[in-house]
Amino acid sequence: MSDPLLSPEQAQQLVLQDIPVLGVERVPLFDALGRVLAEGIAARHDNPPQDNSAMDGYALRHADIAGASAGQPVLLEVVEDIPAGYVPRKSVGPGQASRIMTGALVPEGADTVVRVEDTRAEGKKAAVLVPPAVGANIRRRGEDVRAGQEVVPAGSPVTPGALALLASLQRALVPVHRQPVVAILSTGDELVEVDEPLAPGKIVNSNTYGLAALCLANGALPLMLPIARDEEAQIRRAVESALSADFILSSGGVSVGDYDYVKKVLDDLGAQARLWRVAMKPGKPLFFCVLQGKPYFGLPGNPVSSLVSFLQFVRPALRKAAGHLPGTWFLPQVAARLEHDLFNDGDRRQYVRARLRLEEGRLLAAAPQGQGSHQLSSMLGTNGLLLLEAGMRLGAGDEVQAQVFGDL
Ligand code: AMP
Ligand code: MG
Repeated sequence: MSDPLLSPEQAQQLVLQDIPVLGVERVPLFDALGRVLAEGIAARHDNPPQDNSAMDGYALRHADIAGASAGQPVLLEVVEDIPAGYVPRKSVGPGQASRIMTGALVPEGADTVVRVEDTRAEGKKAAVLVPPAVGANIRRRGEDVRAGQEVVPAGSPVTPGALALLASLQRALVPVHRQPVVAILSTGDELVEVDEPLAPGKIVNSNTYGLAALCLANGALPLMLPIARDEEAQIRRAVESALSADFILSSGGVSVGDYDYVKKVLDDLGAQARLWRVAMKPGKPLFFCVLQGKPYFGLPGNPVSSLVSFLQFVRPALRKAAGHLPGTWFLPQVAARLEHDLFNDGDRRQYVRARLRLEEGRLLAAAPQGQGSHQLSSMLGTNGLLLLEAGMRLGAGDEVQAQVFGDL
């Protein structure tokens, strides 16, 4: 009992050491959204594929119009209309221009495009009133990406923007890391399912839902297992059935209570224990082991503790497994100004659920009352965890470090 607790950072590092990066699969482009690219993607062709016009206007030879002005417009013969998507048939000679649309190929002979706003149509001729710089309004071949160049590096998250870029590179199939499948197991004789009657002494199993939702929100696929009673054989069967997943999360049963059988069962199954108990509040009783090659998190049973522990330890592990690059595994941390006093008279760091909001460009933090580890209402409308070190006493207006876990 007297072994010192690990710091949350030590525990995070220990956990991450045992997390494998999952393998690669090729998925249809749109299914790659939210996943992580497993191989760098090079361009097969230049983009833009050819020089094309950035404006609706006239393609022409700059030498012809260099001296044009509203008082002394230059008249040019219009030889062709070039819509986007077609190949010009005529080249532009001295004293000539082609009407050109945005995205249309620049015809041979032309070196500049004049915007239609800087011209006036005069019968079959065009009068140029304002000369742009030479080469203006032409998007050059390859100026976005060059053939052969690696455009999207391995480890890139496939965001909507990256997806559009991959589409422009004609990648119908995309190599991404597998999404971690996460088995979720809640233990406890007191638990009933959401749709079961609440007999005296019972509470609703909320952890399975909260943890599964966090998995989905973090790019993993939850596998929700039935409740296991506080009984060795049942917990053992449940754990064995969870081994089909890449990760196993259980909640409850890892404390020091008389019916906390989870660690015993894991021990019997040959698990290699890595850590137990972290200096944090909520969330002290955290057990982590490797069971037949699979990372296993024994999360605390208290509902808020299980969610906060997920964010600190499981989320980084899932991100590593899914191929996210180091440096992006942990929740982003920022400085915020407290809107009220906040004390931590205990001896462990507190993770205080708080509302972070931007006001005139400054980040403000306010923590709701009721921060008990059983008080799920503290998760409602909150998007941040304030890091309140042991002994810290802060006043309104003081700066506090905050981890961001929801939209600002
Ligand atoms: P334990 O770690 O099993 O001692 O559980 C600690 C506290 O969390 C107890 O008050 C449990 O009733 C509660 N608890 C355990 N599992 C769940 C669950 N799946 N959903 C909601 N509360 C739970
Ligand atoms: Mg229990």
